[in-house]
Amino acid sequence: SLTIGIVGLPNVGKSTLFNALTKNDVLAANYPFATIEPNVGVVGVPDPRLTKLAEIFSSQKILPATVDFVDIAGIVRGASEGEGLGNKFLANIRESDAICQVIRAFKDENVVHVDGKVSPKDDIETINTELILADLQTIEKVLPRLQKESRIKKDIAPKVAAVEAAKEILEKGDTLFSAGIVQGSGKEELLHDLHLLTTKPFLYVFNVDEDELTDDAFKAEQRALVAPAEAIFLNAKLEQDLAELDDEEALELLQSVGQEEPGLATLAHVGFRTLGLQTYLTAGPKESRAWTIKQGATAPEAAGVIHTDFQKGFIKAEVISFADLVETGSVAEARSAGKARMEGKEYVMQDGDVVEFRFNV
Ligand code: GDP
Repeated sequence: SLTIGIVGLPNVGKSTLFNALTKNDVLAANYPFATIEPNVGVVGVPDPRLTKLAEIFSSQKILPATVDFVDIAGIVRGASEGEGLGNKFLANIRESDAICQVIRAFKDENVVHVDGKVSPKDDIETINTELILADLQTIEKVLPRLQKESRIKKDIAPKVAAVEAAKEILEKGDTLFSAGIVQGSGKEELLHDLHLLTTKPFLYVFNVDEDELTDDAFKAEQRALVAPAEAIFLNAKLEQDLAELDDEEALELLQSVGQEEPGLATLAHVGFRTLGLQTYLTAGPKESRAWTIKQGATAPEAAGVIHTDFQKGFIKAEVISFADLVETGSVAEARSAGKARMEGKEYVMQDGDVVEFRFNV
């Protein structure tokens, strides 16, 4: 599954946030046999459509889509110098599909800041500099060889040009992501085998004081620092408290600080979007469930997420949009109203499609 790596300077609240992530009981409740690594937190993506489906189908269980977060310790100023970023750090971050930076904005004299002052702007720069330097080291290792090779193999000229262009961006102090060269886009293809860190999509979590959660001017300032990446504002200690409460108590606590949903829920939603994912839905008396697919996935690819045999033996998919199903009230009613479509192999899945696959075994 797709994972988001969490990085940040020491003492910004990563462990606190991660504790909240792992206390969240999606996995324990729904996937009792799943084994998870100690540094992985699995968060359910809240989806009110599932509650509605469970009503229509009298489902016993609701299984939301999930996002995996990996705790990646080990980034400090100067980490890319000398021995370079640790091997474990690099391996972990290379395996992540997106990078989530946790940035300290909370003020608390009892919590030491590694650089002596709370400054989101400086901290973002420190982390990005380390990632940029690591990418430059990678490029400097391969570029001379590529340039030499291209004198004989003319067809690698575009690749050399792409690597040189990337080098120029990094030397200016910009991440490749912020320059639009992001994994999964055509612009990154020629660089893909270099496994550059800053081509991953970024998102930012600002760990803020409670009163800053509702301070729109403050939040706009921070958003401007990280655009085009998305920013999420939460208070890690509050998230840890929320993770320990039942739904009703949690709602009360959230309302007392002017929030509609836990920061972790927002993080899961934004993470999902950053990874380029969407969901389709299945429902029955046993369970109502959201399945994770890439935006643009076809019906057989979507079937393959449930079981590879479903993809191999795919015949067609009966698709009802969530809105049509709610409006008609049942599958039978949707069918007689002509709202149930039979879709074939070429069909591109839409977010919120309610699906039943037909397949050969
Ligand atoms: P890490 O080094 O990034 O993993 O940071 P920790 O999660 O260990 O947090 C460092 C210290 O900051 C701990 O004493 C936390 O209790 C405290 N801390 C974390 N989040 C917050 C917060 O939102 N507000 C305040 N005041 N303290 C926090």
